[in-house]
Amino acid sequence: MKCTKCGGVAVMNMPQHRLKLCADHYPEWVISMVQRTIDKYAMFDRDARILVAVSGGKDSLALWDILIRLGYETAGLYINLGIRHESYSDVSESLVEQFAAAHDGAPFEVVNVRETFGADVPELFKDSGRHTCSACGLVKRHIMNRWAHEGGYDAIATGHQVDDEAAVLMQNTLHWHSGYLRRQSPVLPSIHPRLARKVKPLCHLYERESAAYALLLDIPYVEQECPFSERAKTLFYKDILNQVERRSPGAKLQFYLSYLKAKDEGLFTLEALPSEMNTCERCGQPTQAGELCSFCRLWEAHRS
Ligand code: SF4
Ligand SMILES: [Zn+2]
Ligand SMILES: [Zn+2]
Repeated sequence: MKCTKCGGVAVMNMPQHRLKLCADHYPEWVISMVQRTIDKYAMFDRDARILVAVSGGKDSLALWDILIRLGYETAGLYINLGIRHESYSDVSESLVEQFAAAHDGAPFEVVNVRETFGADVPELFKDSGRHTCSACGLVKRHIMNRWAHEGGYDAIATGHQVDDEAAVLMQNTLHWHSGYLRRQSPVLPSIHPRLARKVKPLCHLYERESAAYALLLDIPYVEQECPFSERAKTLFYKDILNQVERRSPGAKLQFYLSYLKAKDEGLFTLEALPSEMNTCERCGQPTQAGELCSFCRLWEAHRS
């Protein structure tokens, strides 16, 4: 297999782009692809301050590395969820620390959910029959919004790639969750001063491509999956999409890009933004619920 650019030994084959690249040209291509994605969706400007949500996994660390190489002002945000199985959260945190040290002391913050709010995430929905991932999503969104607002960041960047986006899209399409379908996007604009703009600069990259990038650039990342992800439905949809991709290379990317195009062409009209938002009495975050936001209600339920 030869590199399309220099004829050297190719290490990555990307049939969806009719491209094979060597160990030198592959990282260059990934970095320029991410810059093109940032520009295409007007994610943020050159002088923006970006908070990168890092989990210790390959995607978010690859994203942070790429944004640093592209010269953006970034800081990492690691949320320690208190997942004790095989020390998952602590191992992930130490990999984030290791990454920052290897990148000239790149700035980052750690929010330990137990130390800050009083309990580990897996304790929150214990005995309620609800999936830990729902509590986890709520807690992560709340912390990301608050820390981005308090730190004065222009956007939160997350490491979602095509595989994540296509799996969520498939799940929402199969159920015709029109609200979610309208909202799924590489950029979620801020609809309130305390709710950060969210961007997904890896949304044109496949998962195997970000993994290859991390491996080639010697970025250590947590290889084990979160123990709760086994029950997460997205893994099931990822598996189906991988089967489709094997038969028809590029299908995953096409599925996602065609959806974005259809949206651009007006297939899904934008729902009206909530006209009024309340302010949570406890934490001050905006909410469409009554006096307490869902995050504060979650903790109220946990404590009672
Ligand atoms: S798999 Fe679920 S519990 Fe684990 S990090 Fe993801 S959302 Fe949180
Ligand atoms: Zn080459
Ligand atoms: Zn609140």
